[in-house]
Amino acid sequence: MTESDTPSVMWFRRDLRLADNPALLEALADGPVLPLFVLDPALWGPSGPTRRAYLGASLRALDESLRPLGGRLSVGRGTPVRRVVLAARAVGATRVHIAADFGPYGHRRDREVEEALAEHGVELVRTGSPYAVAPGRVTNGSGEPYRVYTPFSRAWAEHGWRGPVDAPTDGRWVRLDEGTTEIPDPPHPSGLDLPEAGEDAARRRWQEFLDRVADYDDERNRPDLDTTSRMSVHLKWGEIHPRTMLADLARLRSAGAATYRKELAWREFFADVLFARPETAREYLRPEYARMRYDEPDDRLEAWQEGRTGYPVVDAGMRQLRAQGWMHNRVRMIVASFLVKDLHLEWQHGARHFMRWLADADLASNQQNWQWAAGSGVDAAPYFRVFNPTSQGRKFDPQGHYVRRWVPELTEVADPHEPSADDRDLAGYPAPVVDHAAERREALDRWEQIR
Ligand code: FAD
Repeated sequence: MTESDTPSVMWFRRDLRLADNPALLEALADGPVLPLFVLDPALWGPSGPTRRAYLGASLRALDESLRPLGGRLSVGRGTPVRRVVLAARAVGATRVHIAADFGPYGHRRDREVEEALAEHGVELVRTGSPYAVAPGRVTNGSGEPYRVYTPFSRAWAEHGWRGPVDAPTDGRWVRLDEGTTEIPDPPHPSGLDLPEAGEDAARRRWQEFLDRVADYDDERNRPDLDTTSRMSVHLKWGEIHPRTMLADLARLRSAGAATYRKELAWREFFADVLFARPETAREYLRPEYARMRYDEPDDRLEAWQEGRTGYPVVDAGMRQLRAQGWMHNRVRMIVASFLVKDLHLEWQHGARHFMRWLADADLASNQQNWQWAAGSGVDAAPYFRVFNPTSQGRKFDPQGHYVRRWVPELTEVADPHEPSADDRDLAGYPAPVVDHAAERREALDRWEQIR
């Protein structure tokens, strides 16, 4: 398509960046571009304060990065099917550009917007996605989606992906005069310590991590050390594309770089699983697990949510979640196992709480990891392998630094992973809400009933 004077719309969603953004380049190749973000009540409403605060900051950063090029971000509020059509008509656009969304809601929403635009002679153009390989592309010999990670990741790597594309250096832009709203600046919950948002911050964080990716292999399971990349929130909002990261990793030879690439493949695998089985955002992927006996949520769920279970590593993780909108992966696994196998609650209760408080909350990664922890997912942890929260804490936080940081009442206690009753009383720390050994047996009994 050659450049013309007919404007087009670049509808940003989970791609809040200028660099390595093929959809944006397609839009600029059309002619003048309206950069648009729509605050969709269906997504904004259920977002917790953490996600709202982060998104507001990321949108401001996107607007800032458009300014030197002469552009501004226009923000509309309302259902996309209405807002995007109004915006396209207001600027006389004939095309609306997006990166494809493969989540259950986004996929449906885009089809509805596509139909509504078509009624006005406007085309919805999908270029790229938030993944190196779009969900649905990698299939096994029978054309079916993979259900096991290792063969998926092999086929995914063989499929390959395009190289990163440059950020635009200039462009012609249009703005909406009416029907816009300010970029939201929701109140920052007190004490919330969020990372800096935006494409520049993502790139800085990534460059800084690349210097130490060689150590990632050995130390990524240690929540007491800051050894993981913390890129999940930047990936969630598309402030950086995984393809950019994979291109950098391809130049490195370390075992750490190879392991990191496998972690990115888990993200792609879970997106692929959710695309193939959209109902698993809510329902058990292995239906037999729906027949298991679970307890109704009671005040033990609240104790878990608030970090008062009396199991220090669980409480540390749950408090880190509230304070930073992030939790270390090993601890996510421990707290998830605890909810399902020690409290006997359905995974959806935990997944909902995570979706509310994680800044990196991502439906595919979150729900599928929860199903993994609950034994009901693809390639899931075997149900009978029940994490012991005390020994997990000792193993991965050997000096207790992580627990002491997030559960400060245990700072002076001799054994922060298993404080004595006297120490607990002195520190004002609760007794365990359940007896792990007994609940482990109970979990295995319930599991035997569905085998
Ligand atoms: P790193 O260790 O630096 O990993 C690099 C990147 O690889 C991550 O940013 C992420 O994109 C990807 N990755 C790593 N592990 C996984 C994994 N198990 N599944 C999918 N992708 C992975 N991740 C989310 O991005 N959003 C979620 O909502 C989410 N919910 C989770 C819920 C549970 C119960 C569990 C056990 C894990 C969840 N994860 C989720 C996966 C993982 O915990 C986070 O991606 C990771 O902790 C983010 O920190 P990091 O960027 O420092 O990770």
